[in-house]
Amino acid sequence: MPERTVDLHAHTTASDGSLRPAELVRRAAEAGLAALAVTDHDTIDGLAEARHEAGRRGIELVNGVELSVRWNAGTFHLLGYLFRPDEAMEEGLKRLKALRHERNEKMIAKLNALGHPITMDEVRRESGGGQIGRPHMAKALVKKGVLATVDEAFNTLLRRGRPAYVIVERLEPAEAIAIVRRSGGVAVLAHPYQLRLEPADLDARVAEWAAAGLGGIEVQHSSHDAARQSELGALARRHGLAATGGSDFHGDVKPGVELGKAHGGATIPYSRLEELKRRLDR
Ligand code: AMP
Ligand code: ZN
Ligand code: FE
Ligand code: FE
Repeated sequence: MPERTVDLHAHTTASDGSLRPAELVRRAAEAGLAALAVTDHDTIDGLAEARHEAGRRGIELVNGVELSVRWNAGTFHLLGYLFRPDEAMEEGLKRLKALRHERNEKMIAKLNALGHPITMDEVRRESGGGQIGRPHMAKALVKKGVLATVDEAFNTLLRRGRPAYVIVERLEPAEAIAIVRRSGGVAVLAHPYQLRLEPADLDARVAEWAAAGLGGIEVQHSSHDAARQSELGALARRHGLAATGGSDFHGDVKPGVELGKAHGGATIPYSRLEELKRRLDR
């Protein structure tokens, strides 16, 4: 029998992926995956549709989310798995959505003050119903003819340091871990290289976060070559953490990343999900 494989990191139109949750699950089933975790940025709005479709197709759907965490140098994303999608989880996410909404309003006000009369409705229309952010502001600006391309919109107005930029307030690492754990889930550090830490600093931070309840590290990922993967595997072992894996599939918006495949087209064994499930007993 061929090895059972999984993908523990994929996005839908509920955040910035290009496929609807049901379509993503259909693709995962067609690819022969035994399990799929839907891990949208700061929302679990895609889970219900994904779960329904997973039931029809006989594939295991793992509740997931990818929380944005405050971090100055690079990007800190915290994956949450196997949690109950309960009121406590919704509360935590609602706060994140409110912070994002406030920030979007401030940016649109700045754009208006700069003489670009775009509205929240116009921006929302570019979002396809999912989470709203700067890419949709950029598209709205292009549609209005304010700037020629999305790139130009970022470079002249929307990038950090440009006149319409406003930062989104985020969770502290320990807060994000607590949100996942409070609802019975396992918290996993996503693509750790994006933190842009030296190895010794990464090790020290992982020790801190493990003490705060971190349960795993994303070891396999479409951006982790063999050397990175083995370093991260060692990091997980040193701290007694689960080693997970996922593609970080976004559909057409991130070409070159295939559902169910980590770096170099490697598959992700079901045992990685089992490691996560073992953490639930702690
Ligand atoms: P937001 O979460 O609203 O701040 O938007 C972040 C998203 O904007 C990222 O996920 C990228 O997809 C996109 N983005 C960020 N910087 C740029 C850039 N310089 N050019 C094009 N897209 C960008
Ligand atoms: Zn994304
Ligand atoms: Fe991420
Ligand atoms: Fe992701």
